Amino acid sequence: MNDSYGRKIQYLRLSVTDLCNYRCVYCMPETGVHKKDHSEILSIEEMTEIVRAAYALDIRKVRLTGGEPLVRKGILTLCRNIKEIDNAIELGVTTNGSLLPAMTKDLKAAGVDRLNISLDSLNPETFSKITRGGNVQNVLNGIRSAQDAGFDNIKINTVLMNGINDKDIFDLIRLTRDNQIHVRFIELMPLGVAKYWNSNRFMTTKAVEGYLHNAELLRIDGVARVYRIAGYKGTIGLICPMSDSFCPSCNKIRVTADGKLKPCLHSHQEIELKGLHGKELEKAITDGILQKPQSHRFGTVGSATERFMNEIGG
Ligand code: SAM
Ligand code: SF4
Repeated sequence: MNDSYGRKIQYLRLSVTDLCNYRCVYCMPETGVHKKDHSEILSIEEMTEIVRAAYALDIRKVRLTGGEPLVRKGILTLCRNIKEIDNAIELGVTTNGSLLPAMTKDLKAAGVDRLNISLDSLNPETFSKITRGGNVQNVLNGIRSAQDAGFDNIKINTVLMNGINDKDIFDLIRLTRDNQIHVRFIELMPLGVAKYWNSNRFMTTKAVEGYLHNAELLRIDGVARVYRIAGYKGTIGLICPMSDSFCPSCNKIRVTADGKLKPCLHSHQEIELKGLHGKELEKAITDGILQKPQSHRFGTVGSATERFMNEIGG
């Protein structure tokens, strides 16, 4: 259905857990998060119901995120349930990739169409610092296993952080030389932990453009400008939530792991979905779509939401 500003809302991002096996410095507090009681978190059945109700309102694309979606028990059942609603629903998973090696075949068999894998550095030390203890080799193995399992169009998401991974841009671009993957550089947004970061950590995608000498602009793909360097197999995407406004083309709604619909990533506005069923659930989702603001209002204080990114799902 259309929102109040004529945008066709077809995309649901569902955070299936707020827990994660990493503690990325810009996303989660070092101490992790308080583990919520089972009853506070959406069950697999409740999530399936939400997707079914959203489907009735014309949602045709679903992305499972988190926290880390692959630590969520029942994730494969959820994927199968979504595909049973309609096999044509485009089902994606955004993951840190570390647990992929043991799961890619099952994810493929459960109907997952697309994988987005977050990778902020190829340098083992930098990667470990950013994730607070992660091993980059696990993610690289995850990417390889996804390719082997037949996933194509794999997207690598890199959040740009000045003074942290700005020296890694060239190496990440080089991944596209021999691999048919899409590396997307994303501007850090001031929400969650990053809301309190010094402004000199934030950088625009202009820094990446400096490396794209022989690159051709292939297309503008929703919120991303997509380039290919001559002779390279993969592509490079630049996503500029800070230096560009992506709001006019925003077609998303989000649901948190505790069952709140967020019409906009950056708004504090939330609509309770937990405990609702059938037509009541559809009405709450409709209300959420109609309350979607025209645009976010990053002020000098950053995003208006008090949530951490691991709760919303990015
Ligand atoms: N754990 C999974 C992962 O890391 O891909 C899924 C959840 S994570 C919250 C989703 C995406 O949000 C990741 O690509 C992460 O880098 C990004 N992210 C988290 N905090 C962010 C911020 N403040 N600005 C921009 N992107 C952010
Ligand atoms: Fe976990 Fe993803 Fe947040 Fe990193 S970005 S802490 S992997 S949820």
